[in-house]
This record gives sequence, structure tokens and C-alpha cells, in this order.
Amino acid sequence: MKIMAPCVLCAKESMEKAKRGESYQLPILDGELDDTGLIYARCPWGHDSVVTTMHPKHEILFNSGCKALIDGYASESVASVASALERAYEFFLRVAFRKSGLNNEPFEVVWKMVSSQSERQYGAFLFIFLHLTGNAFTEPKIVREFRNKVIHKGIIVKQSETREYVNAVFFLLRSTIKALKERCAKEYSDEINDLHEKQMALVNGRSCIAYRGLSVDSFTKDSLSDYLAELYK
Ligand SMILES: [Zn+2]
Repeated sequence: MKIMAPCVLCAKESMEKAKRGESYQLPILDGELDDTGLIYARCPWGHDSVVTTMHPKHEILFNSGCKALIDGYASESVASVASALERAYEFFLRVAFRKSGLNNEPFEVVWKMVSSQSERQYGAFLFIFLHLTGNAFTEPKIVREFRNKVIHKGIIVKQSETREYVNAVFFLLRSTIKALKERCAKEYSDEINDLHEKQMALVNGRSCIAYRGLSVDSFTKDSLSDYLAELYK
């Protein structure tokens, strides 16, 4: 996936220039983000950069889906936003299991058994959500119906109805992540820190920086319009 990223070496030089009160320009590059969450980029001066994202996958995918929506790619937007929701359910499960004090290893063993079956993952999420919050989780009807129409039936949809779908997922993610943060604040940051540690292990000594500007701090905005307004700031 293409994504904007800063150059590591130019960023360091810029910081030095800023300290000396000199003017500077930080090039923002077209980077390539892979499944590990690392971004690779090369600047006009030939510096190769590795940038860690510090964002869980559902934030990256939702962000990408919103950009596709803004650019008018409705089907692509639905695909990314639908994936974001599924990965958010996985993230919820992982964080909630940390709270139970269980070792990560057995979780990975069980996850492997359901990793290709989203309906089973959703079933597991429903029960963990109920266990953690005391409430039954419900998806608005549009979330599944609209996704299936676009992804499985290949129906070409209007921009306005796609926005309605993205809006429904936005509020669903917002309330789900809020419920998780309220009950598992420490485990939530532990999960993010572990994600970052895994990325750092892959960086393998190369110079890198952590970049939190990939997406806005998702799901704290009051509305989808506020979220979209932040994207191209
Ligand atoms: Zn550079």
C-alpha cells in the first residue's frame, strides 16, 4: 500500500537545523507500507528510510478506505473499511485476552484455527464483547448487507450510499474501541507497544523513526466529517 512517510535522515538533519534556528524543509515521500506496519521510502537525495507506523491494522485500513471514499473509489473504500472492521474485532479479542492474564501463546494457537474464517472470529468477538462489557454487541443492518452487496456480488454503488456505510462503520468502531479503552487501558497500550517492538525487530538495526502521523487518532472524532477533514490537513 502506498502511504506518505518522512525521510529518516532528512528528518534528523531538519531537527539539527531547527535547533540552530536555521530554516529547513522536510521531504514527505511516497512510501510503501507492508503487512508488518513498516513503511519503506527513498528520498530525492537517495536516503533509504524505514518508518514504523505505531498504528494497529484497523486504523490503517479505515484510513485507507476513507481516502478511497474521498477520491471516489467506492468499491475500494468498502473493501478497506470492511477489512478494518474485521481487524478491529481481532484487535479487541487480543486486548481483551491480555486482560484475562492468559499467555499470548495459547491465543495464537487458537487464532490460527480461525484465522481464515471471519464468521468464527466474529462469533468469538461477540462473546468476548459481552463478557467484557455486559452488553450484547449489535452491528447495524447496513454493515453486513452493504459489504456483501459490494464485495461478494460486485454491485457498483453510489458515492452517497458508500459514505452512509463508512459512517455506520465509523460509529461502530468508535464505540467498540471506546468500550475497550475504558476497560483495558493498560492492555490496549501494551498491545500497541508489542506491535511496535515486533516492527523494531524487523528494522534490524537500520536507522528508523516512529511515525504517528499516518492516520489521525482514529475514532476519537465526533463524526465521520471531522475524521475526513483531518485526513488531508
Ligand atoms: Zn532524505
